[in-house]
Amino acid sequence: NFISSVVPPDEIGVKFDDIGALEDVKRTLDELVALPMRRPELFSHGNLLRPCKGVLLFGPPGTGKTLLAKALATEAGANFISITGSSLTSKWFGDAEKLTKALFSFASRLAPVIIFVDEVDSLLGARGGALEHEATRKMRNEFMAAWDGLRSKENQRILILGATNRPFDLDDAVIRRLPRRIYVGLPDAENRRKILKILLAKENLEADFKFDELANATEGYSGSDLKNLCIASAYRPVQELIEEEKKGRGSGSSSHLRPLVLDDFIQAKAKVSPSVSYNA
Ligand code: ATP
Repeated sequence: NFISSVVPPDEIGVKFDDIGALEDVKRTLDELVALPMRRPELFSHGNLLRPCKGVLLFGPPGTGKTLLAKALATEAGANFISITGSSLTSKWFGDAEKLTKALFSFASRLAPVIIFVDEVDSLLGARGGALEHEATRKMRNEFMAAWDGLRSKENQRILILGATNRPFDLDDAVIRRLPRRIYVGLPDAENRRKILKILLAKENLEADFKFDELANATEGYSGSDLKNLCIASAYRPVQELIEEEKKGRGSGSSSHLRPLVLDDFIQAKAKVSPSVSYNA
């Protein structure tokens, strides 16, 4: 069905520190979500401080929205449920009402819980238009109604965290349910350097590896692009070794891969280019 995973906080395996850059976003999420989930008693007095029930992360693909959602659940000590918006609108003709209710009653029993809805834009009604299948429409309406039921439970520590690459496609129905919206953008050179440091922390690099130079050479790369670039680069010493072995040389020391050098990354750029050509 449409739940892709349910993970308890100590099994998620991603913390804020594992995410390079996005310092402001992490701070905001900590204040808005993690703190109220960890310390609900601090938010139960007066009228000014209310736990937030819906947050939207928006920005280009591969910038770390899913990673942020997981890390946030770890930091908040919350169970993590992940759902993909498009799976609700695809060929999903089961008993909509029953399954949606089951999902949401399951979720509320798991509180504190963060329900991550990726591709939340696919939940809106308008785009389906006249061609939309009746069952899909029904499913979506059920989902929205159950979502509202969940939001109205004042004392429960439940957060819906939506993510989208297409903020302009969101309609009022979704916007209304996600009152706090946070932009997750492409990293600048300094932030690319921080991401690369994390991605390459355990790799065998040449001495004095020039992180600055690589960061400057990867304008337009998202965190995900940088990861793919690192993977492609890490293959180069492996391929060289295999070539050497084929030529009958290098035997004996065959298990020794040379360290990665900056040029591996520069060469790998030909294979992995930035996937986003806009910054929206
Ligand atoms: P999409 O919108 O395509 O779903 P996303 O914004 O959810 O993308 P993620 O799935 O979180 O992006 O990122 C993909 C992968 O890229 C991550 O698993 C991680 O390895 C790497 N990555 C992205 N951003 C960062 C970052 N800021 N720090 C470290 N790794 C990152």
